[in-house]
Amino acid sequence: MRFESWVDNGSLFIKGELVEEHGDSRIGPRFQGPFDELEMVNDTVFYSFVPSSLHPDTLALACYHLFFPWIGNKVEFPNPVSPRVLELVNYPTYSRFKGEIEVLNCSDQIKPFERERGSEIDFGDIAISFGGGVDSTALHAIFPEAMLIHEVPTDNPRADVSKRGAVSSMIKFQEMSNTPYQVVKTNSRLLSKPNGVTSWLSPMIPSVLVAAENKKKSLLLGSNLGTLFLKDGLRYAPAHKIPNLARDSLAEVSVDIIQASGGISQYMATKISADSGLTSFLNFCESGENARPCSRCLKCLRRELMYRCLVNENGDAHNLSDLPMDTSTFIEKYNIDRVLTRFAPGNHEPYTHVFSFSRDTMGGNFPIELMDLCVNSPPADFMRFWPPEADEIFPFGYGKILERIKSSIPEMPRHEQAIFRSWKSINLTELDAN
Ligand SMILES: [Zn+2]
Repeated sequence: MRFESWVDNGSLFIKGELVEEHGDSRIGPRFQGPFDELEMVNDTVFYSFVPSSLHPDTLALACYHLFFPWIGNKVEFPNPVSPRVLELVNYPTYSRFKGEIEVLNCSDQIKPFERERGSEIDFGDIAISFGGGVDSTALHAIFPEAMLIHEVPTDNPRADVSKRGAVSSMIKFQEMSNTPYQVVKTNSRLLSKPNGVTSWLSPMIPSVLVAAENKKKSLLLGSNLGTLFLKDGLRYAPAHKIPNLARDSLAEVSVDIIQASGGISQYMATKISADSGLTSFLNFCESGENARPCSRCLKCLRRELMYRCLVNENGDAHNLSDLPMDTSTFIEKYNIDRVLTRFAPGNHEPYTHVFSFSRDTMGGNFPIELMDLCVNSPPADFMRFWPPEADEIFPFGYGKILERIKSSIPEMPRHEQAIFRSWKSINLTELDAN
């Protein structure tokens, strides 16, 4: 693939041109599960943000992540890159799909991007990739001084996006806590059919550009305990020991990329946000009016369950009406057949623990319609705690950052650790026997 990049009218543009001799194809897979094939329907991406200086290696990796599905076995980046890029685009995560990729414009004259590492990270050194949901809002609650960077998907670089839920929340956070923020509009989710991200890292590209521009050393991402440690949805997986080469390849040419809330469950993220008075600013779903929660989808259901657990436990501190969705009715507003099909235990959706936690916490208020989703799954009280292995998400130098996070969440007791690590959403021996 041949890449070009230019700046025009306050936006950075990146174009990926399919080249037959490079082995490019209009249809190709994502490198992340479920490895679905995407069709390229647009060849140019814009970002409504122009970095004052951008190392050619950083730009190259941005190009690579954006257009990965359609890249063949040769690439030519917008500017000559250092030989380091050849290594980065041939990490095993990528080569299992692409084989060996040749970089046509590597040059010994270009010095590799030099990332500062090993120094002690302070609160002023971090930025948060802010999606607006419970995970990144919890990170904001813990680090109100950290810059928030938010990507808005749109096909118009000049669209007025100030009324969108997450943007209006950031405007409020600046008023309340003096939190700096940056909005970056982009059409990067409109490159393919079906629409969406071409790699899980492509939504990080604006954050990486803005963080580097503002001399930040670290970008925190909102992940959570379930998606990180119960990843395949069936059982515990030691995420802290599994290398993440895709993330590392982007970090190598930019800033540390840390899944900082990976030890925080959806319940605790909801609680941390609520305890800081931020419930009404949550935008866990953008399908409703002004990109606010829709009160209909499966994500809204999971978030409503978690919040109702909080209200159930401490109705004096938390009001149901603070949740920015229609809470006048509960389970009636959702399509139960869809819920039961999608979240059926064993379906590789990492949420079964959310249903069993709600079952045990809400007692008689848990909707019996959802009981089939967790009838055989063990308790999930581990969601109230931080597991010790989540410390290992943080590299050397993050002592202060980790200490601040852990002041908001109790350490997981040993017996809960045992339940967490032996967690299975279904009885797997039974499944194997069938
Ligand atoms: Zn929704």
